Amino acid sequence: MLFDAHCHLQDARFGAVLEGVLRRAAEAGVTRMVCCGTREEDWDRVLELGRRPEIIPMAGLHPWYVDSASPTWAARLEAAFDAGAGAGECGLDFSDGRPPRAAQEAALRVQLDLALRRDLPVSLHCVKAAGRLLQILQETGLPAAGGLVHAFSGAPEVALSFQALGLHLSFGRALTFPGATRARASFEALREDRILFETDSPDLPPCGVEGPNEPAHLARVAAAAPRRVPAFENASRLFRRWLP
Ligand SMILES: [Zn+2]
Repeated sequence: MLFDAHCHLQDARFGAVLEGVLRRAAEAGVTRMVCCGTREEDWDRVLELGRRPEIIPMAGLHPWYVDSASPTWAARLEAAFDAGAGAGECGLDFSDGRPPRAAQEAALRVQLDLALRRDLPVSLHCVKAAGRLLQILQETGLPAAGGLVHAFSGAPEVALSFQALGLHLSFGRALTFPGATRARASFEALREDRILFETDSPDLPPCGVEGPNEPAHLARVAAAAPRRVPAFENASRLFRRWLP
């Protein structure tokens, strides 16, 4: 059995084809999927999808969208948490062309504060910002419920720093590329109880997959892992409040 720890089933690309996507996921043994909202427009849809037993709803303001959020986004996010969503996707992305760092950091701190007060697990996006994300998490602390850094492909030292804070590291397509020695080295360095698998569907298809990604492809990620780890059990612990 497989547990997709981070995907986006609310994405418009899944609109008309979602039933087929979920059927193929079930056929591939993907029995749980964590569906992460990334902006206000997503959150109601994520909560609606979360009524299905195999889907766990999360709501967050992704760093790419902090510029376009409404002035009341934080209150709306609290309402989504009250309605049963976990926290994320949120985080930092210091690639060129992304919103200003100060705006990203402010939005992240608001979301961490809400997650801490409700003790919700957080799903974190981190691109070219690991040092700063670690600093902020050291200041704020992490909810006791824990969290994950999604689509991790960084260096082992970084992976171990996140692990030391109590986070899980979630691996996706990076493992499926033959040249991905850094992601594999990180995987090998981590404790087996801190590793998760994800697809980030419909983005980031694994090596060899054409077109949009979907949770059924999680089997390719798991098969490419350098060693067997209890990723399903790890995700089941992290997201236990949504499981029967
Ligand atoms: Zn994502």
